[in-house]
Amino acid sequence: MSSVTQLNCGRLHGDIAMFEAGTEGRVTLPVSTWLVRHPKGTVLFDCGMPASFVGRTERTDKVSTFLEIECSAGDTVGEQLQAHDQDPGRVDFVVVSHLHFDHVGGLAMIPNATLVIQRSEWDAGMSEEGASRYTREDFDLGHKLKLLDGEYDIFGDDSVVCIPTPGHTVGHQSLRVRHTSGRQVVLTSDCCYFARTLDDGALPTFGHDLDQQRDSLAQLRKLRDAGAVIVPGHDAGFVFDL
Ligand SMILES: [Zn+2]
Repeated sequence: MSSVTQLNCGRLHGDIAMFEAGTEGRVTLPVSTWLVRHPKGTVLFDCGMPASFVGRTERTDKVSTFLEIECSAGDTVGEQLQAHDQDPGRVDFVVVSHLHFDHVGGLAMIPNATLVIQRSEWDAGMSEEGASRYTREDFDLGHKLKLLDGEYDIFGDDSVVCIPTPGHTVGHQSLRVRHTSGRQVVLTSDCCYFARTLDDGALPTFGHDLDQQRDSLAQLRKLRDAGAVIVPGHDAGFVFDL
């Protein structure tokens, strides 16, 4: 059994139609990471935005053409871990859902962890065609790599398990955690942006394969129906409280 702590790593603001096709208005997307403490080790799921996003750079100017970035010094994953009494140098595993900048950008601040990622996602990130969607300097940093080809039980006791939820990107994955409360918690990242996505199925206008993402959402619905708490990736209204 593990504890799960949500860390608040800044926010993004944008046009909601980008994230829910057919809607109108603005949306605030919290950027979160999750600290999972298991008796045998410490796992971080996703790692937020790059430290260089604190302040204005050429890169943030580029992102700002479609998303307004809100990221202060205290919002970096390094600072957030310290605020929760966790030395970033002593995180054992970083599980990344996928390689977009708001999920892997903080990896440089977790220098000693093993990076746990689906092989297809890693390959896409390292490929030439990937350069338009991924920023290699965020993740090609020499971390020890654990490349996955499907489900992976990190501690071998079914309590922290990577589950593939492809669609948003080719190798997107979620993390299923047996929480100390006894409940299953599924951290879903960008497979399920908002809590309502599970039922209304409204998807972003972009993505690797939206039909595949719908299949992944159906898989999450099954887990919810079996009693799991489904934690959306970017829902400002969702309260994580177990
Ligand atoms: Zn995201």
